[in-house]
Amino acid sequence: MWTIENYPIKELASGENLSINTYTIKGHAGPHIHIQASVHGAELQGNAVILQLMEKLKNKKINGSITFIPLANPYATNNKHGTYTYGRYNPVTGDNWNRNYVDVVKASGFDMQQFVADNKSLPWHELRLVFKAELDHIIDSHIQKLVDKRLLAENNKLNLILQKLAAKADGVLDLHTGPVATRYLYSAEYEKEISYYLKFKHILVIPDEFGGAMDEAAFMPWVHLRNELEKHGRDITLDIESFTLEFGSEESFCMEDADKDVESILNYLKYKGVLEEEPESFSGYVCKLADYRTLFSPHGGLVDYHFKPGDRFKENDVLASFYQFKNLDPQDPIQSSRQQFKATTDGIIINRCPSSAVHQGMELYQVMTNLEEFQL
Ligand SMILES: [Zn+2]
Repeated sequence: MWTIENYPIKELASGENLSINTYTIKGHAGPHIHIQASVHGAELQGNAVILQLMEKLKNKKINGSITFIPLANPYATNNKHGTYTYGRYNPVTGDNWNRNYVDVVKASGFDMQQFVADNKSLPWHELRLVFKAELDHIIDSHIQKLVDKRLLAENNKLNLILQKLAAKADGVLDLHTGPVATRYLYSAEYEKEISYYLKFKHILVIPDEFGGAMDEAAFMPWVHLRNELEKHGRDITLDIESFTLEFGSEESFCMEDADKDVESILNYLKYKGVLEEEPESFSGYVCKLADYRTLFSPHGGLVDYHFKPGDRFKENDVLASFYQFKNLDPQDPIQSSRQQFKATTDGIIINRCPSSAVHQGMELYQVMTNLEEFQL
């Protein structure tokens, strides 16, 4: 059974209203999964993945429910500069659209100590239900407070609506892409082993902390609850996850690639019991956020990139060549203008700058180093 809902998110200067649609499929009893795409407007592939997933679920028996939000940020999707989409930052405020969520337990001043004191003896399946209802209430009151005090700013409305919808879920998948990137995944430390079910070859493990992104906004309330329960001598293994999935490069929408990409989410749905099939095994590489390094450009110039996202490299490999035309000697044009950029460690290329014209200090590559292999 599908239900479609519409949420207005922004009234424009011209009077038009932007809104998002949510598509929810409900089956038998089971977990709720929240899947959204394109909070960064140029990151399109997640929408192809959502379409393929909806198609694949057409004749399947579902335990639980899944809410899909394609094109979750229409303002960013429509923000074109020439043929390119300027979709990562709010053009009015300059804020990154995926750093504007709130750690709502902290922001609202919710009394977690009192909540845990009142509810700590409940069995986990009941406690998580009570806390979910509480969380819904906390987000509503937080939004109302901002409205009442005229503090609901440019970014708040969309981010808080998405956050409220995601707070109902037992699994949150925020679909993004890199600039020019391979497929990779962000997982919190506590859900690292579960992230293997998503069948991404490259996994970045972030601390169980808040940094403003959707994945963190969705898992932090549960991390706060777990930490408070620990103080009362109760150890909980959290069974609510939240991940950021990076499906390749921005400005690209490919249904054929999405047909393969969707296998990752299908496997997670099997793990969660939403689909009644055994999850498949998988292997890949994990790296801690501290070992995810940005290589900044040491020169300005035109760049010939020698490695693609997904490629492995070794220390001393030439990752890129810079050509600086101010140094050009017409007697020896190539040698005189070229400088080489060498790797100082082994690693895997995850992202690279989409442009071959770079200034000194721009982000050239993002790479995973100190890799650990995983096997599911
Ligand atoms: Zn993104």
